[in-house]
Amino acid sequence: MNKEIPELYGSMIFGDKVMRSKLPKDMYKALRKTIENGTHLELDVANSVAVAMKEWAVENGATHYTHWFQPMTGFTAEKHDSFIAPAGEGEVIMDFSGKELVKGEPDASSFPSGGLRATFEARGYTAWDPTSPAFIKDKTLYIPTAFCSYSGEALDKKTPLLRSMEALSKEAVKVLHLLGNQGVTRVSTTIGPEQEYFLVDKELYKQRRDLIFCGRTLFGAPAPKGQEMEDHYFGTLKPKVSAYMHDLDVELWKLGIPAKTKHNEVAPAQHELAPVFDTANVAVDHNQLTMEIMKKVAEKHNMVCLLHEKPFQGINGSGKHNNWSLITNEGVNLLNPGRTPAKNLPFLVFLMAVIKAVDDYADLMRISASSAGNDHRLGGNEAPPAIVSIFLGDELTAVLDAIESDTHMGKQEAVQIDIGAHVLPHFVKDNTDRNRTSPFAFTGNKFEFRMLGSSASVATPNIVLNTAVAEALAQFYEELKDAKAEDMEQAVHALLKKAIEKHKRIIFNGNGYSEEWVEEAKKRGLYNLVSTPDCLPQFVTDKNVELFTKHHIFTREEIFSRYEILLENYTKTVLIEARTLDEMLTKDFLPAVNAYAGETAKNAASKKAFLPELATGCEEALVSGLTEAYGALTEGIKELKALIAKTAETADALEAAKLCHSELLVKMEALAEMANKAEALIPDSYLPYPTYDQLLFSL
Ligand code: ADP
Ligand code: MG
Repeated sequence: MNKEIPELYGSMIFGDKVMRSKLPKDMYKALRKTIENGTHLELDVANSVAVAMKEWAVENGATHYTHWFQPMTGFTAEKHDSFIAPAGEGEVIMDFSGKELVKGEPDASSFPSGGLRATFEARGYTAWDPTSPAFIKDKTLYIPTAFCSYSGEALDKKTPLLRSMEALSKEAVKVLHLLGNQGVTRVSTTIGPEQEYFLVDKELYKQRRDLIFCGRTLFGAPAPKGQEMEDHYFGTLKPKVSAYMHDLDVELWKLGIPAKTKHNEVAPAQHELAPVFDTANVAVDHNQLTMEIMKKVAEKHNMVCLLHEKPFQGINGSGKHNNWSLITNEGVNLLNPGRTPAKNLPFLVFLMAVIKAVDDYADLMRISASSAGNDHRLGGNEAPPAIVSIFLGDELTAVLDAIESDTHMGKQEAVQIDIGAHVLPHFVKDNTDRNRTSPFAFTGNKFEFRMLGSSASVATPNIVLNTAVAEALAQFYEELKDAKAEDMEQAVHALLKKAIEKHKRIIFNGNGYSEEWVEEAKKRGLYNLVSTPDCLPQFVTDKNVELFTKHHIFTREEIFSRYEILLENYTKTVLIEARTLDEMLTKDFLPAVNAYAGETAKNAASKKAFLPELATGCEEALVSGLTEAYGALTEGIKELKALIAKTAETADALEAAKLCHSELLVKMEALAEMANKAEALIPDSYLPYPTYDQLLFSL
């Protein structure tokens, strides 16, 4: 088997090997140039690639092709067309042209556009992204594309991501040239997303409306055992889970997705998968595919993969760690501290650019991780707090301290940088300090953004991060550009010093879960944007609109449309949850409470008649407890319904979202608490759905 893996790996992608074997040499070269340098692709090349792709796809069993895109829903979308073209009476040929490869025209009127696309212009366009490989899945050739409107506005997550990668590359190259590194022509962002998920039994899943409609349980009495023993983390894989993970790996490998690490996570039934990092847009495509295939393979194994951020109350939810770095076309990781001091100047500049970026745009970073689901995690002492800060570790912090406190000029300055650099290799080796409470941590040669929710597209945080860092670099460039080459080191030093003074407030190496940090962060003037409706309005502030428009990531209209969509998504999600809770309590739970109370009352009455002298009143107490709960829940459901109506009728999107957070979710939580208490009194056999015990410990 193992021998076959290199063979199997990437067998379903139109990768370099296939390209080379199928394309004429000059066409192959032209395509490679586009992939590597992002240059424009001529139609004759596209035609040639289309022919080769179709040939390869048909050989591998494909009958259809689809432009695969990532609309603002956060999911992926596809519309399949077959390759067939009529060729005389009753005959067809398999056909696919360069035009069809390069551009698609899905009717896009049903995708969220936040008002960008007027209904009279329902057309949307998909444009091939040649830098992310096409692949075959379910007998269809998938062509990764960007999705935009007739007038060119981005309607997806891919377009702004590609734009942000361009912006960052441009600014990074300029700075590197200033620092004497003339050979660099391109800087790419690399991403390695670690993906957490839960697995539950399919039959059990089907019995819970909340899992089906919301992807999470809306209430449930805790199992006697949760995650307190911490025995699940890195624990031995159960055979069922192991078989699943194996199948999943194979499916991912076929698509050239380098799934690398898999293990059990902290919560029972929770697991993680991490791939080897890749260029940002490829990694984003791969993560979308990974989530989809995780679900699909689970089906085959009679399980359901839950990607929700908080499927169960009382135990950890799932996140996604966005490992992020920068690599030059010469293969240098710009966030690698390296060994020789001279070469560390770029490192320090880029490190500082990231620190500045995250400090200046902490609100956007927070937004990029916001969703109704993730609101249940952030600040819940299982995920980073909602306050964005950076963990550097003691040694790197000491390096920055040394630069900051150096008041001398000239030679000593270089010495100070030397000191910094000397510490670094040591730092790299000893970088075992894993501050799990930090939202944004330096981890040796990359940053790890840990706020993301498990179901989120990794596009969003990287659009923000890339753009914010591009802006920081642009500002650095302006400050350095007039320095003479021989003065550059000093100029850089002065710049770093100033930047550290200004941005050190964002650096925090302590415990992010502590109350003191919340206080301290407030003193430092950092944002503490607790919920999605709290943070979203920051998206449209002048400062942030300016950032995105300056670097041509979003137009003003695109920003406002996205803001609308995000608010609406949030409200829709909460409303669906509220309605599901209503239905589940009314149709599943209350009848169970009633049945058990009735049964208990009947038993109590007959026992009392039979053995009056032994009556203790405990059945009565139980019946009265259940009846009270029944009454309180019924009353609560009425209030819930009223709140649902009030929210649904609220026209202003921000107003509605705020109502969700401050009233609807609060009511839902109160109901859940009541239900949990009552559920603990009721035998499982009375409940028409499985409990936490069964869901979490049955695999
Ligand atoms: P952990 O965070 O558990 O220590 P690793 O550090 O080994 O795990 O890697 C976590 C993820 O970071 C992996 O997906 C890995 O490929 C990714 N990663 C490693 N180096 C880089 C890099 N230079 N850029 C982006 N991601 C990276
Ligand atoms: Mg990690």
